[in-house]
Amino acid sequence: MSKSQKNKQKRIPLYVQILIGMIVGVIIGFVALGLNGIRFVQNWIYPWGQIFIRLLQLIAIPLVFISLIKGIIGLKNIHSFSRMGGKTIAIYMCTTIIAVVLGLSAGLLMKPGKLVDKTQIAHIQEQYQSFVEEKKHLAEEQEEEGPLAFLENIIPDNIFNAAGDNSKMLQVIFFALFFGLAALTITPVKIEPLIVLFDGLNDVIIRMVDYIIYMAPYGVAALMAGLIADFNGDISVFSALGVYALTIIVSLFILIFCVYPLLLRLFTKIKIREFMKSIYPVQMFAFTTSSSAATLPVTMDVVEKKLGVSQETASFVLPVGTTINMDGTSCYQAIAVIFISQVLGMDLTVTQLFLIVALTVLSSIGTPGIPGGSFVILTMVLTSVGIPAEGLALIIGIDRPLDMLRTSVNVTGDAVTAAIVDGK
Ligand code: ASP
Repeated sequence: MSKSQKNKQKRIPLYVQILIGMIVGVIIGFVALGLNGIRFVQNWIYPWGQIFIRLLQLIAIPLVFISLIKGIIGLKNIHSFSRMGGKTIAIYMCTTIIAVVLGLSAGLLMKPGKLVDKTQIAHIQEQYQSFVEEKKHLAEEQEEEGPLAFLENIIPDNIFNAAGDNSKMLQVIFFALFFGLAALTITPVKIEPLIVLFDGLNDVIIRMVDYIIYMAPYGVAALMAGLIADFNGDISVFSALGVYALTIIVSLFILIFCVYPLLLRLFTKIKIREFMKSIYPVQMFAFTTSSSAATLPVTMDVVEKKLGVSQETASFVLPVGTTINMDGTSCYQAIAVIFISQVLGMDLTVTQLFLIVALTVLSSIGTPGIPGGSFVILTMVLTSVGIPAEGLALIIGIDRPLDMLRTSVNVTGDAVTAAIVDGK
């Protein structure tokens, strides 16, 4: 590629490139639907999107491990770290509570469950029986574990097993923290080689992330084409569940455009416009992949380079957030519970509403950052409040686009917290 070509490519900002990728993907998807080319898209285009997601997943564990250790051994003392930990958890808890209360209020106010077409609903429910059975089974398995199981599960019994499984991110974070904090207590001269080593490794990993991000517009196009082609054009679900979807969309928009800007305004010096512009590519990634875990490398890249958050903060706050902070998901879960209860004609008591807030906030810790990661937890919340889990079948058909939206909110919430914790 000639120098002038390179410069030209550089002039198009990443978010515009990703947007173009999305639009091209949607067009390819619709053309494929029109020309009966669904198989072609599934065989020849969608796999490129999967390759892109795999690359992101591949880099996640080494990125978190190396940058977290580098971040910690760069700290001047342990106290600043424990302060950061406490602040992070407190903000995550608060934002999740806000999101759940917002979801509950929207659900109670807009009453989406009272406004559905009952005949279509019965048909929709029948379609997803086996899916619900599977989730119920998984939820029962999780419920059998004791109340402290989540704490137990944070400690790996073997670091190689933990590092070999992307869903065990918290275990890797635990080891990196333990390692980093231990290193901080050793005379600086002795760990000098370690500092140099992690510095070098960090640079290499960041360069790898940059290469993956170059692929983003193509990866996003392939994923969007696959999603559209996969969706067989059954829009009856959308008409039956329109108000439910609208309630979720409105609530998620309130989080993105009102709650987060307010928090940024109150607790940081970042300009809202700057923030929105910087975070946009991250939201696009989250939107197309429906996975906050797969988006993590991009979130870290943008939060550090564009928002200027320090590596110590970003490498702790963001991976922890991917696992335990899901504002969009929590808000959605609250609305889904209200919706299902309304469709089934059950009026929730105030105690049940409080229980929903408590359970949703606590269970957001265990929700994996993957597409549809919230279903098992949602099943648990439903049964704990006394609503039949079968109600889940009502909302599966329309879930993917809503998952895309709530994942975008999840990653935005993580970035906002990183900025606040860092004192930007
Ligand atoms: N897809 C979401 C995420 O990755 C989780 C969910 O809401 O199902 O953050």
